[in-house]
Amino acid sequence: MRLLVATHNEQKLRELSRMLPDHQLSKLDDATPLPPEDGETFEANALLKARAVAATTNEAALGEDSGIEAAALGGAPGVRSARYASVNASNASDVDNLAKLLREAPAGSGLRYVSVLAYVDPATGVERLFRGECGGRLAAAPRGDRGFGYDPVFLPDDRPDGRTMAELADAEKDLISHRGRAARELLDWLAEAV
Ligand code: IMP
Repeated sequence: MRLLVATHNEQKLRELSRMLPDHQLSKLDDATPLPPEDGETFEANALLKARAVAATTNEAALGEDSGIEAAALGGAPGVRSARYASVNASNASDVDNLAKLLREAPAGSGLRYVSVLAYVDPATGVERLFRGECGGRLAAAPRGDRGFGYDPVFLPDDRPDGRTMAELADAEKDLISHRGRAARELLDWLAEAV
C-alpha cells in the first residue's frame, strides 16, 4: 500500500523503505511543514506527526519518532535527541549531538535506542502504535561511517563483537535496530489488518 511518511529525514525514509519493501513509502516534500514535536513521549510525537500529515493529505500516514536514552543521564536526551546540542529549539547536527553525548556520559555506560511508529488512516479512523527498542553501550570514540545520528558511538548489545552500529552492514543493523523491530511489528499487523 501507499504510505506517506511524516518526516523530512532522508535516512529514516531509506531505512523504513528497506524494512517495508512491499509498500510504497514516500516522504513529505521539504515545503510541507511538520507540527512542532512537543510531546513528552515517543508515542505522542509519532502520533502527532502521523495525524497532521493524514489530516492534510487525506492519505494513510506513518509517523516515526525515535531517539537515544542514556542511563547515566536519567534517560536524556530521549525525545530531545535531535536537538540535544542545540541552543534553540531547532535540530543540531549529528556531529554536535554525538560529541555532547560523549562529553556528558561515561564510555561503557548504558544506552537505549527507541523507535515508535504511528499508523493513521483518515479513511477508517484507525490509529496504531508500534515500539521497538535496542540496548547498547557508549563507545569511547566514534567509529564507522554507515547509519546516521548516534550510530558511530552506539555499541549494540546484540552484536558483542566491538563494532559500533555505524560499522554494521544495513541488513545487520535492520535485524537488531529499534526501527527494524518496530517496523516488523507494523508489517505483521498490516498483513493481518489491511
Ligand atoms: P526525530 O525522531 O526526528 O525527533 O529524531 C531522532 C533523533 O534520534 C535524531 O537525532 C537521530 O539522529 C537519533 N536517532 C534515531 N534513530 C537513530 C538511529 O537509528 N541511529 C542513530 N541515531 C538515531
